[in-house]
Amino acid sequence: MGLLEDMKNQLDSKSLLTLSKDYAFQYIDYGKQSYGFPSNEDINNLDYFTETMPEKTGNPVEIIKCLSTYGSPATISPLNGRYYGFVTGGSLPITTAVKWLTDIWDQNAALYLTSPLSSKLEDICEKWLVELFNLPRETAVGFVSGTTMASFCALAAARNEILKRNGWDYYKSGLYGAPKLRIITSRQIHASIIKTLSLLGFGEAQIEYVDVDSTGKIIINRIPQLDPMCIVIIQAGNVNTGAFDPLSDICDMANDVNAWVHIDGAFGLWANCSKKTKPLLKGIEKASSWSVDAHKTLNVPYDNGIVACKNRDSLISAMQTNGKYLQFSHERDGMIYTNDMSRRARIVELWAAMKYLGKEGIEALINQMCELAVYCSELLKKEQFIVLNKVEFNQVLFCASDEVVTDILLKRIQNSKVFWCGGTKWNNKTAIRLSICSWLTTVDDIRITVQEISSIKRALLESEI
Ligand SMILES: *Cc1c(COP(=O)(O)O)cnc(C)c1O
Repeated sequence: MGLLEDMKNQLDSKSLLTLSKDYAFQYIDYGKQSYGFPSNEDINNLDYFTETMPEKTGNPVEIIKCLSTYGSPATISPLNGRYYGFVTGGSLPITTAVKWLTDIWDQNAALYLTSPLSSKLEDICEKWLVELFNLPRETAVGFVSGTTMASFCALAAARNEILKRNGWDYYKSGLYGAPKLRIITSRQIHASIIKTLSLLGFGEAQIEYVDVDSTGKIIINRIPQLDPMCIVIIQAGNVNTGAFDPLSDICDMANDVNAWVHIDGAFGLWANCSKKTKPLLKGIEKASSWSVDAHKTLNVPYDNGIVACKNRDSLISAMQTNGKYLQFSHERDGMIYTNDMSRRARIVELWAAMKYLGKEGIEALINQMCELAVYCSELLKKEQFIVLNKVEFNQVLFCASDEVVTDILLKRIQNSKVFWCGGTKWNNKTAIRLSICSWLTTVDDIRITVQEISSIKRALLESEI
């Protein structure tokens, strides 16, 4: 009884929320000044959490306190503009604020009956996104945890639909003994696509990889002869160079033979929302399905991804796993468009971001990222670095003229505490990648970042002489 009463008091007095809020406010001030990866000491302090499963009820105030004391310093702060690792979006203040509210609501967005609010907002966002991305009017949109799951849903729809067109009922007979599908994709496709293909029953050796040019784009005339059994997977935004595959021509080739084209536009699909970058997505509407993140370029908190599928019936059938277009109520039941059943009402943050920014705000956000990426590449060139990509979007890929120097430079950058970015291999050589993906990144951040890169290189070259 004591436990339940305690919890009731915690709720009624709002004491734990108040405490959490106080620590969160402290973290905002801390996080603005915390650049890069946590120190070794902060990482070692995580051992505080290592213990056997407690027998006894704990002290909630202590639990929150220890998260603040040992957890906060071991986070990667999203509250400053100098984290360029992977493709990591920040969080718009409006989205963080409404997320707090949704935490209290704790909605289950599975069905209209479990959350009419989520159902309504999903309906509205579906229409807004179809318009923003220029997709065919009949396109169905589902709200998932990220692009990996979005691609998973879209490719399940593709697989089942193509089999159906070829006289095979996947829902009844599964994949064993089914007609053979062909998977055609870029040699530079994102690792998450390989993962989803594996989950969907396709092995590495079944994939027909197409070569890319020096920028990372698919070379059109290397695409093999397509046929109606093909699923073609291309990308809008190469994770290293930001390059966009030539969508329009590839879609034409595929549509001529009734093959399926899926576009992975995790961060790049948002280019469609700016007049300057929209041409990169010419032909976007001719694909069959699309996946995109809200938690990258749009700066919505994790986990927030979007799947879009032109053939509504095929997405719903695949997610219902019964081949039938069933809906449980006259209103939208979110779960019929996604892999999940119960899931949180992540739509609220996406809706709030779009409602707040409007088309103008989204365009401004994208233009800022692109302009800073160009500026960054110019500063790097001035400092005698080699910029390896044509900066068309928000990614900057560079190296020093000597690979050994690049390797050491990358390690020192990652310990610099001035900013953080990751590395990759480009043409079998180490390259350093900066992804400008937070609304918080400013011209000053870019200047400080390139200054730091240069001074590390200078120190490195001097010490070696
Ligand atoms: C990040 C990314 C993914 C994976 O998205 P998640 O949201 O991490 O699941 C897929 N493709 C590309 C191009 C990406 O940048």
